[in-house]
Amino acid sequence: RRLPLDPSEEPGARQVKGACFSRVKPQPLSNPRFVAVSPEALALLGLHADQVVKDPLGPEYLSGSRVMPGSEPAAHCYCGHQFGHFAGQLGDGAACYLGEVKVPPGQDPELLRENPSGRWEIQVKGAGLTPYSRQADGRKVLRSSIREFLCSEAMFFLGVPTTRAGSVVTSDTKVIRDVYYSGHPKHERCSVVLRLAPTFLRFGSFEIFKPADELTGRQGPSYGQDEIRAQMLDYVIEMFYPEIQQNYPNQVERNVAFFREVMYRTARLVAQWQCVGFCHGVLNTDNMSVLGLTLDYGPYGFMDRFDPDFICNASDNSGRYSYQAQPTICRWNLVKLAEALAPELPPDRAEAVMDEYQDLFNRFYLENMRKKLGLLTKEEPEDEILITELLQTMHNTGADFTNTFRSLSQVSCPTEEEAEGHEELKKTTDLVLEQCASLDELKAANKPTMDLRELSMLLSMAQSNPALFQMISDRVTIARQLDKLSKLKELMETSQEELKTRQAEEWSSWLTRYRKRLARELEGQSDVQATQEERVRVMDSTNPRVVLRNYIAQNAIEAAENSDFSEVQRVLKVLQKPFSSQPGLELPAWVGGHGTASQAERD
Ligand code: AMP
Ligand code: MG
Ligand code: MG
Repeated sequence: RRLPLDPSEEPGARQVKGACFSRVKPQPLSNPRFVAVSPEALALLGLHADQVVKDPLGPEYLSGSRVMPGSEPAAHCYCGHQFGHFAGQLGDGAACYLGEVKVPPGQDPELLRENPSGRWEIQVKGAGLTPYSRQADGRKVLRSSIREFLCSEAMFFLGVPTTRAGSVVTSDTKVIRDVYYSGHPKHERCSVVLRLAPTFLRFGSFEIFKPADELTGRQGPSYGQDEIRAQMLDYVIEMFYPEIQQNYPNQVERNVAFFREVMYRTARLVAQWQCVGFCHGVLNTDNMSVLGLTLDYGPYGFMDRFDPDFICNASDNSGRYSYQAQPTICRWNLVKLAEALAPELPPDRAEAVMDEYQDLFNRFYLENMRKKLGLLTKEEPEDEILITELLQTMHNTGADFTNTFRSLSQVSCPTEEEAEGHEELKKTTDLVLEQCASLDELKAANKPTMDLRELSMLLSMAQSNPALFQMISDRVTIARQLDKLSKLKELMETSQEELKTRQAEEWSSWLTRYRKRLARELEGQSDVQATQEERVRVMDSTNPRVVLRNYIAQNAIEAAENSDFSEVQRVLKVLQKPFSSQPGLELPAWVGGHGTASQAERD
C-alpha cells in the first residue's frame, strides 16, 4: 500500500498509518559525480560499469537526482526495537526506494536460486527528506557512504549474505555535520550510495502492527490493521520464499515454515559474522533483514586484535551489540519478529522454532570454525574446546584475529610423535607471535576509557545501592573498565621480554595441541600429501587475507575527501579477492591515529 505524495505537506516527521510506503521525491544533488562503482553489483542490473561511468547522466540517475521513466520513488514505513526498547515508527529517513529491476536474462542460474523473486529492489541512500526523516535531513556524507559501499561489497566477496552496493556518488551539495568526527562542525559533501537487494524489508517492517509497548507506551502506527499485515506476509513469502508457499497449503504451517527459515538464515548469518570477526554495531530489529542479509552498514567494525567484548559503536555504552553478544541479540530480535507476526504465527509454534536456534547457531559456527582450522575429516568432541582455547589464547596475547587464522594454514601436519618436535613447533610459534601485541600496544589497549574519578564514584554507588546499580545500563562497561584496570596493573609489572616469553609459552602450548589434532586428521589417509594440500586450500579460502579494517576505510575516506577517489576504487579491487595472496593486492600499512568506526560513521 502506498500513500500518495502530497505536495502541500512538509516532509519531516509524520505518523503514517495503514501504509507500508509513502511516495517521495528524491532531492537532486548539485553536480553529482562518481566516487566509485562496483562493476559486479551493477552487472546484476544488466548495467556495464564502463558505460555507466562514461555516461554524463550516470551519476544523476544512480544518485536519484534524475528519476528513470516508470520509477515510483517511495520511502518505507517501518518500526523497530532500538537498544532493547520499542521505538515506534522509524522508517526510511534517508533511504529512498526507486523501484525494481528485473534480473536481466542470461545471468547465472545460481543467482535466481538466491533471489527467486527475479528482480532487485534498488535504493538510493542519502537522497534527502522523507516523511520518516524525523529531526535529521535525509542526507549522507562521503565518509558514511564510502563505508557502506566498501563493506557491502567486501562482505559479498567474503561469502557473507548482504545487501549490495552499485555506486557511490558525491556532489557539491553540502550539509553541516557535528563535532564527533572533526572536533568542530564541518561542511561535508552530500553523497549517495545505490543499494540493491532482493528486498530491503526487515523485521521492523512487521513491527508497524505492534500493540503499545508496556515500557514506552509506543505502538506501531498500523496497529490493528491485520489485513495489511497478512498481505505483507503473503507478499514476502510468495515473492522470496516461493518453495515454502508451494509446499505448505496450510496457512499456519506455511507461516511457521517461513519463520523457521528466517531463523535458520539468521543463525547462519551471525555464525558467519563471528567467523570473520565482523561486528555489526547496531543490531536493532529495523536493521535485521527478512532474508537473512547483512543490512545497514553504520558503525560496523572488523576486529583487529581478538577481543570478545569488542564494541564498534561508540554510543553503545552497555556493550549490548558487542562481538560476543551478537548471536544472543539476533535471537532476541527473532523473538521480536515472532511477536510482531502474531496471530499469523501462533506463539507456541514460534517458541518451538526458537528452541532450535542455539543448537543451529552452534552447528554453523562449529562447521565454519573447523574449516578455518583445517579440520576436514572426522569431527571430534574436543574440536570445540580447541577452538575456544584458540580464541582465549588470541585474547590473552592480543593476537590479530584475521592474520592469526590466515597463518594457521602454514602449520604443517605432523605425525603424532612429531607434534611436540622442537624445530617445527618453534617455527610456527614464531609465525603466530608476529601477530601478537607488544607490551606498549597491550598497555594502550587496556587503558580504561572511563575517567577514574567517574569509575570510583560509580563503584561506591554500587556498594551503597546494589539494586540501583543493577538497573544502570552502564554496568557492563564498568565491569570492562575494572577488568582492563587489573590487566593494566599486571602489564605495568611486566617487561617486554617477559611478555614475549609468556606469549610464546601460550602459543606453543596451543599449537602443540593443534598439531596433535592435525596428526589425527592424517590417520588412515592413503595420500598424505593430497590431504595436506586440500587442508591448505580449504583454509586459505576460508580465512581471508584481507578484511575491511577501519583504518583502511579511513585512508580511502581521507583521500576521497581531498578529491582523490583512486584509493576507494583500489581498496574495492583488493576486497574483491579477499582470499588471494597475489602481489599487487596489498592494502596500506597501518600508520596509527584513526578514530573509532562510529566517529567516522556519524551521518
Ligand atoms: P540506523 O541506526 O542507521 O538504523 O537508523 C535509524 C533510523 O534513523 C532509521 O529510521 C533511519 O532511516 C534514520 N536515519 C539515519 N540516518 C538518517 C539521516 N541522515 N536522515 C534522516 N534519517 C536518518
Ligand atoms: Mg537502519
Ligand atoms: Mg544506518
